[in-house]
Amino acid sequence: MSTKHSEAAKRFIANKEQRTWHNETLWLVREKRDRLAMAVPEWEKLRELSSEIKLHTITHLDKYAEQFAQKAEANGVVVHWAKDAKEHNEIVHGILAAHNTKKLVKSKSMLTEECHLNKYLIEQGIDVVETDLGERIIQFMNIPPSHIVMPAIHIKRQEVGKLFEEKLGTETGNSDPTYLTRAARKHLRDQFLSADAGMTGCNFAIAETGDIVVCTNEGNADMGTSFPKVHIVSIGLEKIIPNLNALGVYTRLLARSATGQPSTTYTSHFRKPGEGRELHYVIVDNGRSDIIGNEEHFQTLKCLRCAACMNTCPVYRRSGGYSYTYFIPGPIGINLGMLKSPQQYADNVSACTLCYSCNNVCPAHVNLADQIYRWRQDLDSLGKADPMKKVMSKGLKFLFGLPALYNTTLKFAPLVNHLPRFTVYNGLNAWGEGRELPEFTGDSFTALWKKGKVTKSGKKCSTLKKQKP
Ligand code: SF4
Repeated sequence: MSTKHSEAAKRFIANKEQRTWHNETLWLVREKRDRLAMAVPEWEKLRELSSEIKLHTITHLDKYAEQFAQKAEANGVVVHWAKDAKEHNEIVHGILAAHNTKKLVKSKSMLTEECHLNKYLIEQGIDVVETDLGERIIQFMNIPPSHIVMPAIHIKRQEVGKLFEEKLGTETGNSDPTYLTRAARKHLRDQFLSADAGMTGCNFAIAETGDIVVCTNEGNADMGTSFPKVHIVSIGLEKIIPNLNALGVYTRLLARSATGQPSTTYTSHFRKPGEGRELHYVIVDNGRSDIIGNEEHFQTLKCLRCAACMNTCPVYRRSGGYSYTYFIPGPIGINLGMLKSPQQYADNVSACTLCYSCNNVCPAHVNLADQIYRWRQDLDSLGKADPMKKVMSKGLKFLFGLPALYNTTLKFAPLVNHLPRFTVYNGLNAWGEGRELPEFTGDSFTALWKKGKVTKSGKKCSTLKKQKP
């Protein structure tokens, strides 16, 4: 049975050029990440520390959240608490309305995506301008991000050239990246200068000092908060870390894992409002405290949102961000979607080969693949199991329970090699849509083993027929 994910993936895969280019582009990022990570001898130690610090913090979140808020207030920050997306949006709007804000400049924030803030504010008559280049491109196109760090990674520069011709009046047919970036910079300068308020997300919120830290490569968070008199920060509860020592661990891991850079170009700390200015923190729960109580899945709260799990995921790379039904794609998105609504997002659980590559690269040791495996085991109780897979599982369970029948079936298995193709590759065999079965050998593995034709290392397998690639 097809799922929404598999149908969307099929559409993406149908464009071979796009599929190949998307796959290779993200793999390049993964390779950069590997080179940078391997150059740090204590890399694995850092990953362990990162995991331990996050585990400690999320299991003492009441203490650290309170400490963070107290410190921030002592620094002159106005702290707001939002239990859900609606409250978050209303608080932000309330602050903007109190300052008669007509234009808001934003730097990238997945939390505001989660809360659908832009749509809400635009409906209230506020001009919302995304200032991260990728975010601005997709805002012009009126589409959501397809990746959490590189939101427009699926768009080619030629498309951006055409878009900028229409939106920014750039030269016809000019898709030179430097030219386009300069055009975007000029356009955004005007936005920064005419904005009434600036908004940022938050990579880390430091309980010990009340600081927030924002990591960008374009400096747009700094520009967006330097000119306007009001700065609003959206902070997910899980962004809180205990102290500056912990920050030292994360700043070494984040950019290397995300984009294969030693650090982001800008790592900006904000502590207190400047004279005559206001700094507001909106600390958002929106389901996070429920995740803390979920023994099986609470480790998702360790996530740094670096996207390394997406860049390495063979399914994400080949099926694109829009094939997932939750707004965050890839391995972390599968898990977060299930935590948000298993009924709505269960189809994404099949978008995983269980290759465990995501576990291997995650800088916070989030056990993503284990969690996806657990969600699969829950699918039946959620009423979301694929009926065809259920029938097949029952059949295999029956077969594996009867060794004599199993061995007899194996003996006849080579007959499949001679069956007319349509009897094997048809609508009942979704697996075979993009793959070929290997040929069955005349003898089972056990029989070959007994005859001494295979060894533990498999080196004497020459008598086994070769599989088709
Ligand atoms: S789960 Fe790990 S690898 Fe994936 S985005 Fe979060 S921190 Fe990065």
